[in-house]
Amino acid sequence: MELHTMTAAELSRLLQSGEVSSVETVESCLDHIAARDETVGAFLTVLSEQALRAAARSDARRREGRSLSVWDGVPIAVKDNLALAGVRNTCGSKMLEHYLAPYDAHVVARLKELGMPILGKTNMDEFAMGSSTEYSALQVTRNPWDMERVPGGSSGGSAACVAAGEAPWSLGSDTGGSVREPAAFCGLVGIKPTYGRVSRYGLVAFASSLDQVGTFSRTVSDGAALLQIIAGNDGKDSTSLPDTVPDFAGSLRRGVQGLRIGVLEGWEEDNILPSVRASMQEAVAVLKDAGAEVITVSLELLDKAIETYYLIAMAEASSNLARYDGVRYGLRVEGADAADMFRRTRSAGFGPEVKRRILLGTYILSAGYYDAYYKKAQQVRTLIRDAFSKAFHRVDVLLTPTTATTAFRFGEKQDPLQMYQTDYYTVPANLAGLPAMSIPFGRCDAGLPIGLQLTAGALQESIMLQAAAALESVEEQRRGSYGTV
Ligand code: GLN
Repeated sequence: MELHTMTAAELSRLLQSGEVSSVETVESCLDHIAARDETVGAFLTVLSEQALRAAARSDARRREGRSLSVWDGVPIAVKDNLALAGVRNTCGSKMLEHYLAPYDAHVVARLKELGMPILGKTNMDEFAMGSSTEYSALQVTRNPWDMERVPGGSSGGSAACVAAGEAPWSLGSDTGGSVREPAAFCGLVGIKPTYGRVSRYGLVAFASSLDQVGTFSRTVSDGAALLQIIAGNDGKDSTSLPDTVPDFAGSLRRGVQGLRIGVLEGWEEDNILPSVRASMQEAVAVLKDAGAEVITVSLELLDKAIETYYLIAMAEASSNLARYDGVRYGLRVEGADAADMFRRTRSAGFGPEVKRRILLGTYILSAGYYDAYYKKAQQVRTLIRDAFSKAFHRVDVLLTPTTATTAFRFGEKQDPLQMYQTDYYTVPANLAGLPAMSIPFGRCDAGLPIGLQLTAGALQESIMLQAAAALESVEEQRRGSYGTV
């Protein structure tokens, strides 16, 4: 049995029926990591022994009829900005290259509570700043569908390992698209929940008003299940919402009859790849055929979302990253005095993109510029959020491309502004705090995956998943023709 290509749901079934053991499952993933990851480069840390021990304990529990959950024994990979006690938490940075996490992130603790072995920690753009994983200071990660291309970012490792068959599913983080964009580039389902739906306790902060933990999976149903596992109120994150979490799996069977799907006015004139346009057109037709109503909406100031996002993200990053001072966390480079030590530590520890953002973020927040940049960005953010609320009176879900193109080549986006443009469709949901997901739908001429994005109103993940399931049923039928990575 090809265990490493199975979905988490299939593995769960086989584990429950006793047809396979967790040790066999984890071994299959580890064998695949050993065979492939030297080229793919998804993992920064592989936890072979730890995962095998967890798998053996899971098998013992199952034999004794005291499994912790249906996911007991199903392995998973975790982005390297989510704390796993006693394990390196590098954030793809020299600054934290040798830093050991002192505790488990809330979401990591949830995985452990349910008995899931953790295969390892995955590569990412440094401090989650980037859209290709090229900004990792530690390693190159390749797109399993085309090794000459980027896997997307910043959660590139979490996407690449699932696409490469090294893990059935994984966790990432999404501040401006870092789950959805790599999911699109690697042909996976990527979910960014509503801001506050999932606790960020133990997620290294990048831009705190935007950060959310998200999921990568091969199917919508696995994504819904993983979201179910990690969602819910947590007293250790003050932004965590008290709302009860609905049964996401239940929404997958509902179909889209009567659902109101929004598309953006004039979207066909957007500067997107023809094959992405074709996928969008097909998706609209599929949803209509299935009984959904397709409605055109306009979202005011959407074309200002990139500028707004980068102003806010950089400002917050400059503040959050002040803690890496050589005293409390990670790298320390000695100097003549304290100021010299700070300077040397931060000069050596941060890469060029992180430095750029700290400098710009500090500038944006400085006296005299605060009103012109930071305050203005916050005002535009409010207007964008209002525009979404208005739109969600008229529609249930918004359908857009996740990205304008498929995965690009290494080095193709040298100009940072070009890299930032990649996030055109993904940052609005973070600014508005809304749930959004990418779903694989079609391929470009070169055979690379195309991702479409579904965005819903706050806490309406179920409706978003419902629409995703309808699109997946069509994609499912042609998956065989895509070949394997
Ligand atoms: N690409 C965006 C950025 O560089 C988003 C990153 C993210 O979501 N972590 O900020």
